[in-house]
Amino acid sequence: MRDLRGLIRDVPDFPRKGILFKDITPLLASPDALAEAVRALAARTVRPDAVVAIESRSFIFGTALALHWQVPFVPARKFGKLPGRTVREVYSLEYGEDTLEIHADALHAGQRVVIVDDLLATGGTAAAAARLVEQLEAKVAALLFLIELEGLGGRERLASYPVEALIAFTVAEEGA
Ligand code: AMP
Repeated sequence: MRDLRGLIRDVPDFPRKGILFKDITPLLASPDALAEAVRALAARTVRPDAVVAIESRSFIFGTALALHWQVPFVPARKFGKLPGRTVREVYSLEYGEDTLEIHADALHAGQRVVIVDDLLATGGTAAAAARLVEQLEAKVAALLFLIELEGLGGRERLASYPVEALIAFTVAEEGA
C-alpha cells in the first residue's frame, strides 16, 4: 500500500488549543492516494446494502465507496439539515452535545450497513451513527475509518461491531 500515513498532516492547536488535528487534505490532493484509500477501505469488508457516512469529511469516502459497491449512499447529518422526516441521536462531545440525523426512509429493516468516517477518536460520533442505523432496524455490518487515534477508547466503545481503520496513530506519541 502507498504511504498514506505520510499524507496526513498534523496541525497543532486546531480547532482549539491542545488538539492535534489530523488534516487529510494532502491525501485528498493526490488522486493515486485517494483511489488507494478507497480501494483499501472497500477491501476491509464485504459489499453492504448501503453506506452511511457522517457529515462532512466522510462524505468524500462514503460517496466513493457507495459508487464502488453500487449501493445507496445515506448521509448522516447534523440536526436540522435534512429536509424529510428523520430519526436522531444525541451524542456527547468534549464540550456539550450534538445531534445526528438520517432520513427515516433511508434504510430498511434487515439491511446490512457500512458506516464510514474519516477518523475514530472517542467513538462517540460513530456510536451515534450506529444507533441511528439500529433505530431503523438495519444492521451495522462494519465501521470503516481512514484514521484511528489509538488510546482514546474508540475501538473499545465500538466493541460490539467490526471496526476497521487504515492508519493508526497512538495518541500518547502524538500528543493529540
Ligand atoms: P469521536 O466522536 O471522538 O470519535 O470523534 C470523531 C469525529 O471528530 C470525526 O468525525 C473526526 O472528523 C473528528 N475528529 C476528532 N478528533 C480529531 C482530530 N484529532 N483530527 C481530526 N478530526 C478529528
